[in-house]
Amino acid sequence: MAAMPVLKKLENAGFEAYFVGGSVRDLLLGRHIHDIDIATSAYPEEVKEEFEKTIDTGIKHGTVTVLYNGGSYEITTFRTESGYQDFRRPDQVTFVQNLDEDLKRRDFTINALAMNTNGEIIDLFNGLKDLHNRVIRAVGNPEERFHEDALRMMRAVRFMSQLEFELEGETQKAIEDNHELLKKISIERVREEFVKMGIGPHSRQAFQIFLDTQLSEDVPDFAGKKDLLSIYPQLQFSPTLETSLWAVIIILLKIPNDNIGKFMRDWKNSNAMADAVERIVELFDLLASQAPTDYDLFKAGEATLLNTIDVAHILGQPISAEALVDRYDALPIKNSSDLIVDGRFLIKNGIEPGPKLGILLNSIREKVVEGELENSKAAIKQFIEEQN
Ligand code: ATP
Ligand code: MG
Repeated sequence: MAAMPVLKKLENAGFEAYFVGGSVRDLLLGRHIHDIDIATSAYPEEVKEEFEKTIDTGIKHGTVTVLYNGGSYEITTFRTESGYQDFRRPDQVTFVQNLDEDLKRRDFTINALAMNTNGEIIDLFNGLKDLHNRVIRAVGNPEERFHEDALRMMRAVRFMSQLEFELEGETQKAIEDNHELLKKISIERVREEFVKMGIGPHSRQAFQIFLDTQLSEDVPDFAGKKDLLSIYPQLQFSPTLETSLWAVIIILLKIPNDNIGKFMRDWKNSNAMADAVERIVELFDLLASQAPTDYDLFKAGEATLLNTIDVAHILGQPISAEALVDRYDALPIKNSSDLIVDGRFLIKNGIEPGPKLGILLNSIREKVVEGELENSKAAIKQFIEEQN
């Protein structure tokens, strides 16, 4: 493990240091480790003294990012959290001198494992057993833990999906009894967990629990829509792209095109995401109701076309994907910039600047895409003359 020297350095300076959380879990599961968290008895200032390159990521919460030998490590002082007044993040963190207290505040047993420099696992809550049995179980009393931080309920279903785990019974019961608390959490944070759930390999199973526990009643625009959403667990495939996830949800909820923007904004999605999804759903509708013209495919563009094919695949909608891609590949032009002429060319050929010019340029583009007009200056010049 390339990160071991970081732990050793802290130990040699007289501090305790452990790998904790997701990196230990993923190491034991043989999963790809994407970020490494270290817990230590050293205070942030003491961590900063030991390493040359550090970033003050969250000094108040005890976190310093250390850049070392090409790697990046989040090093956090042992801490507890107290005063969860509003079912969200703690009001205060208190630094503590031992690992046990730090592990106690963590959400699930499989996320509360630590590893020392000898590769030994510290397992205070039977996380190894749960890892082996593939179970998500809250650390301590699940009810209390969800009252402290309601986001953990979404994290439970998100880890189910990502890790392909089951949810332990008491933990699930506590979610069923407390799902309304999710309303206290910011939409952005709920969305992040929802998307991770939706694009995880076990998303259909996790989504079923998301519905069964009523968590679905407490997220934007899902309340009262269980009957429509219950199709999700029966999908042919799990989405793997965020755009596909949103498009599938919108199609299942039968949201009219005019309301897609509002739906995406209710979930605090970016405009770019909203735009991409809207285009996919529009092309999907076109594929379902009528054959799209070459110009429809051109306007959609390659990314939207491929993403729409993905969505149809997930929904088990029979479409001839290959034929569509072939048709797209055969288009005379793929982008507006591929058109050999522009507005200036039209003006040079006697068209007055103004709205009519725009309309004419659009019709030239459409005819070229449809193969009715050659993409050459001579052919287009002749076409303009015929129009005048
Ligand atoms: P991944 O990074 O793969 O999504 P992770 O387990 O590393 O998963 P993070 O959100 O990065 O999840 O959090 C790191 C660790 O911090 C977790 O493993 C857990 O121990 C703890 N943690 C994170 N969020 C919470 C929370 N809301 N409540 C309690 N502990 C948490
Ligand atoms: Mg992480």
